[in-house]
Amino acid sequence: MSLDRHLSLARETPHAFTIQYPPGREYFQGRFASDAASAAGFLSAKGGLTGLSEFGLYVHVPFCRARCLYCNFSIDTRKDAGLFAGYVGGVVRQLELLEGLLPASARVSGIDIGGGTPTLLAERECERLLKALGPWLARAVRRRPLSVETGPETASREPAKLALLRSLGVGRVSLGVQTAEAGLLVRINRKQSRLEAETAFKRLRDAGFERVNVDLIFGLPGQGLAEWRGDLKFVASLRPDSITTYDCLYRGKGRGFSMVGARPPSPAAYGKLYEEAHAFLTAKGYHAPYGSVNYSLHRHETGTSAYFEGRLLDGLPYLGIGQYAASMVGCRWWFAPPALWDWLKAVQRGKALPVSDCYALPEEERLAKQILWSLSFGFLDLERFRAAFGWGIKPRFGPALEAAQEKGWLVRRGGRYCMTPGSFRHLPELRSLFYTSGAVEWMRSKEGSASMA
Ligand code: SF4
Repeated sequence: MSLDRHLSLARETPHAFTIQYPPGREYFQGRFASDAASAAGFLSAKGGLTGLSEFGLYVHVPFCRARCLYCNFSIDTRKDAGLFAGYVGGVVRQLELLEGLLPASARVSGIDIGGGTPTLLAERECERLLKALGPWLARAVRRRPLSVETGPETASREPAKLALLRSLGVGRVSLGVQTAEAGLLVRINRKQSRLEAETAFKRLRDAGFERVNVDLIFGLPGQGLAEWRGDLKFVASLRPDSITTYDCLYRGKGRGFSMVGARPPSPAAYGKLYEEAHAFLTAKGYHAPYGSVNYSLHRHETGTSAYFEGRLLDGLPYLGIGQYAASMVGCRWWFAPPALWDWLKAVQRGKALPVSDCYALPEEERLAKQILWSLSFGFLDLERFRAAFGWGIKPRFGPALEAAQEKGWLVRRGGRYCMTPGSFRHLPELRSLFYTSGAVEWMRSKEGSASMA
């Protein structure tokens, strides 16, 4: 199929071309679903995981105080100490069961505890969870392997909990500030203040974490250039080790916009916000290749966690623990049950890897996903693709790479294809070039259009 069809669809529906490839799980369900028996056979038998030499581990803690309007993560807003304790019990059990299936030689690239807001757990639950990760940390091969997400409200009020995390091996914390603008915070239903964000950051520094990251979101409903500049200025003044700037479509395809009766910004408006951030943060001493949304004060670091770096840049396999957590090993990609009790019951019955749905992805689908992840760092590294897939991306995506160069969106520099200055506004089109023809035809179909709506 001609790449023109990809580009024209990206121009018609740019908001469908986010980092989530493609915009609906239905695409994979209809084509690559793996039958339950073969999935169970692969996952439960020790043989399914013996090929693992290095992999990332993600632990999902779904609890949040309230749902932010833009968020489509699998979260739970119940505030019940018994539920929290039961959930952590399930996570600990799953970690034990899974550990028994791993080859002794398997190494861990990084461990992320995300959610949700993991630090909503009581101190004793945090301690239980982190201690259960001890054997996994002993397998770690990269620096600062353990990263935890937190929010301003918890981090500003609970210094003892932060000290506990630090003492149990957490090397990096990511503070979800997202915005410090009071009006925007109300609009997106985030229960926090600028002062809390400032205090939280100070508490994280006082606790002595080696790396503190701050997350910001751009393109929120009602967020213009002035508000975005204000957020950038505020966060840069704190001097975190790294700053991650999420495109707000990243989480939920603009779900928040429809809820407040607004329309997502155009690609050109996104481009302006991105250019502002890149110019401002690099002038403040943060490093990031053009196109990357991850900024680091430390020149040779990407700023993201060891888990994400292994998964998004190196294409490493990953295992997910907890309700609705995703895992990928080779061509197998699967999800734990979305309902908390279904997942918990399965683990209590001794299932190391409970599965709700599983897929066997052809290589070009895996590559397409990997390319989109890598582009969020502003480049495609040929050597890293070769290491992950056994061969480069050119044999499969040569015409797409040529088209991107002809358009002036990518340029070859040594072993990388790098995004060119000013190309961020063309990101939906650039991404579309790497969609498989099957995915584009599905998006053009009735079913695909319905899922994108
Ligand atoms: S954005 Fe973070 S804090 Fe907000 S609902 Fe989603 S996971 Fe919870």
